[in-house]
Amino acid sequence: MTKQITVLPGDGIGPEVVQAAEKVLRAVGETFNHEFTFQYAPIGGEAIRKHENPLPEATVEACKTADGVLLGAVGHPDFDHLPGSERPEAGLLGIRKALGLFANLRPVSGHESLNDASTLKREVIDGVDLMIVRELTGGLYFGEPKERREAGGEEEAVDTLSYRRSEIERIARQAFELAKVRRSHVTSVDKSNVLETSRLWQEVVEEVAKEFPDVTLEHMLVDNAAMQLIRDPKQFDVMVTENTFGDILSDEASMLTGSLGMLPSASIGSDGPGLYEPVHGTAPDIAGQSKANPLATIASAGMMLKYSFGMIDEAQAVENAVQAVLTEGLRTGDIAGEGEAVATTEEMTEAVVRHVKSS
Ligand code: ATP
Ligand code: MG
Repeated sequence: MTKQITVLPGDGIGPEVVQAAEKVLRAVGETFNHEFTFQYAPIGGEAIRKHENPLPEATVEACKTADGVLLGAVGHPDFDHLPGSERPEAGLLGIRKALGLFANLRPVSGHESLNDASTLKREVIDGVDLMIVRELTGGLYFGEPKERREAGGEEEAVDTLSYRRSEIERIARQAFELAKVRRSHVTSVDKSNVLETSRLWQEVVEEVAKEFPDVTLEHMLVDNAAMQLIRDPKQFDVMVTENTFGDILSDEASMLTGSLGMLPSASIGSDGPGLYEPVHGTAPDIAGQSKANPLATIASAGMMLKYSFGMIDEAQAVENAVQAVLTEGLRTGDIAGEGEAVATTEEMTEAVVRHVKSS
């Protein structure tokens, strides 16, 4: 197959980690006989410096015409003084919106060889394999009105939590589709004891569940879900939830496995390309020093192969290669234990490439 990939390196360690993922994708192309072409476009701080705009129109075009988009990270302290809409982060919100990406997928699985990096007990973590599906374009972050106003002689602030049937339906369907090819269990997280949006959420999720008779559905209140993620994360397969709850729960879940440098994510819409990026940010403290762990971005590229290109074997080869380098004991600084040798970004990347080529 021929696939066009648009790469948005962004800021901080972004350029280093996307370069690593590109190398791995090229190795996948060679090994499995695909032609991947790469086009680079600026976003975030890099784009502000070059074009005085965190999301230039040309970048949006380059993404819309691609088969998949790979992003590093955006954000730079130099722009902290700017209003929100002019900051690097506005580029990320803008591209998600432009591509209509309503579902954010974050897999969390325990790499057995890494368990010392987690603060939780081995018996809790070993074998964790869950996927959080977060609604990304609705809810509290976007609802109107969102404003300051006068109320009873003092200042009041308002955010609005609203969801439409259609918005809930499409994210629920996404979760059930994923569960079908996983362990066939969906946990829908809400706060239906107090929120009207959550009551509609439950109703719609129940309706969608009827289309998937082989998948079991369970509802869980968000406060309980936060607790269960720490107490017994192995009970979860696919967890689906609205924007705000998903934001919080996915960060919580990311700590189960120990390192931010390991976790991939995918954001997908109903048509057009998906956007794939590591969960971590720009890590300004280690940028440009070849210390960044490239595995989160490499695994994100693996998700692109699977979810945007339908390349199941190729995605599996990337996953296996990541597993293999960890088993071999290769460690970047973020996952190295006391006294363990530390590999550079390039060494880690080359090792993954080697394993992909021998698959
Ligand atoms: P941002 O504002 O862009 O989110 P941040 O500093 O708030 O940046 P992260 O970039 O996510 O948050 O980094 C948090 C910590 O984790 C930092 O100390 C960083 O060095 C470390 N870290 C993040 N990603 C990686 C990685 N890929 N490899 C190694 N260390 C990482
Ligand atoms: Mg951060």
